[in-house]
Amino acid sequence: MPDGECPRCKELLDEAAVAILQHVRAVGQLESARLRRDEAAATALERVVREASLKRENAVTQYHHHHATHGMAKSGAA
Ligand SMILES: [Zn+2]
Repeated sequence: MPDGECPRCKELLDEAAVAILQHVRAVGQLESARLRRDEAAATALERVVREASLKRENAVTQYHHHHATHGMAKSGAA
């Protein structure tokens, strides 16, 4: 079955896309807080960025791990 039709791939890819978006958005908010010299917001956002970064890495890793199982399953089929 083609990669695009695996529901688990789609699900994991969606999760990764959301996690990436949230990380990028948090980084943008942190930068704007720093530009405003808003120390309190910047400190809080630093933690948000760190957590979002971990979540992003986990989501991308999960997708890659799952996707790799397809490659093994259909070796030689291409
Ligand atoms: Zn899949």
